Amino acid sequence: MKTAALPIAIVRGEGALLYAEDGKEYIDAVASWWVNLHGHAHPHIAEKVAKQLQTLEHVIFAGFTHAPAVELAEGLLKILPEGQSKVFYSDNGSTAVEVALKMAIQYWKNLGKPKKKIIAFRDSYHGDTFGAMAVSSRSAFTAPFWSYLFDVEFIDVPVAGHEAETITQLQTIAKSGDVAAFIYEPLVLGTAGMVMYSSEVLDNLLEICQQHNILTIADEVMTGFGRTGKLFASHYLKYKPDMVCLSKGITGGTMALGVTTCNSRIYDAFLNDDKNKTLFHGHSYTANPVACAAGIASLELLLSPETKQSLESIVALHNNFTLEIKQLAGIKDVRQRGTILAVEFEDTSTSYFSNLRDTLYNYALGQGVILRPLGNIIYIIPPYCITEAQLTKVYQTIKGMQLLLTEK
Ligand SMILES: *Cc1c(COP(=O)(O)O)cnc(C)c1O
Repeated sequence: MKTAALPIAIVRGEGALLYAEDGKEYIDAVASWWVNLHGHAHPHIAEKVAKQLQTLEHVIFAGFTHAPAVELAEGLLKILPEGQSKVFYSDNGSTAVEVALKMAIQYWKNLGKPKKKIIAFRDSYHGDTFGAMAVSSRSAFTAPFWSYLFDVEFIDVPVAGHEAETITQLQTIAKSGDVAAFIYEPLVLGTAGMVMYSSEVLDNLLEICQQHNILTIADEVMTGFGRTGKLFASHYLKYKPDMVCLSKGITGGTMALGVTTCNSRIYDAFLNDDKNKTLFHGHSYTANPVACAAGIASLELLLSPETKQSLESIVALHNNFTLEIKQLAGIKDVRQRGTILAVEFEDTSTSYFSNLRDTLYNYALGQGVILRPLGNIIYIIPPYCITEAQLTKVYQTIKGMQLLLTEK
């Protein structure tokens, strides 16, 4: 709190724009931490949420159910990667990950073949609760808690040119046995700095998991709901996960909701007369009807032809900008997957805490654009409704950053 700048008070949002108390407006180029899909205060979502509030705001989800939960679950299963057949509701991305980890560990326990090891990418981010922190990168963000986090087998992210090393690392761990599951952010590691790797190498890794009977958990909390250009990143892959974690975009960015889905192989390991085989996990607000209603409304918008069109045009504009900015001095790398575009500036101090980060962040705010650098990496994750003019302004801001850095 001592070093943080005062927060900017936002009073209203519409489309990709946020309006501040002091009259300034900002383009939300990070979709309010990657959650917003269709723009702020979207009338369709607002209407469905308002209706739901007047019908049923909440009901205990143990022993009871309701239409919004059923409808959202059915809607998700229709579009999720092949094989997903059951839906478990929780509150956010971290809890969606906790649930998946508990499902994986208990799966083996329930079968009477307990397995201990979990594999994850070294630079991954899966959330801020303890299980999620354990499978995330051992970084400054988790340092005070390291001694409380369970051991995880980390493998390197298989970025271009380093695929073989990761494959070897996974094979070695897989052969050693005792592996319960592999959890991964498919194709794009968000918090690591929009680090990207190919679907081919991920398929190689998932194939190894299948050969060694290792459960797979796709953390699509960030990549889900169209972000990567397809509805889910797993749609780029031949090998499908056993479990999928969802949150962020699930309600179009309206409110908190988490979902963990699984295939029948997982589900069946819990389907038993022995009550000790139950997945004992539940939150007070599990499957909150209002959140589910927002989810249904967002899904309707996501599957509309207009959104498909928007996605395509963002991808095309990103492609052009990539070609343009690649040429410029001071640019280390430009990478893109669908609507996600990341520009990495050449810089020696790459930590989140570096001054460069603050300089870039404040420069963008001054231009009326919200861009939150991850160290020397700037990325765009726009709401899909962003207009061409707004996106052009975001690109101009990034070009302004490039000038700022190369002039120094
Ligand atoms: C944001 C994120 C999470 C955590 O979600 P929260 O809702 O913030 O708890 C988990 N995994 C990934 C890949 C994320 O990007």
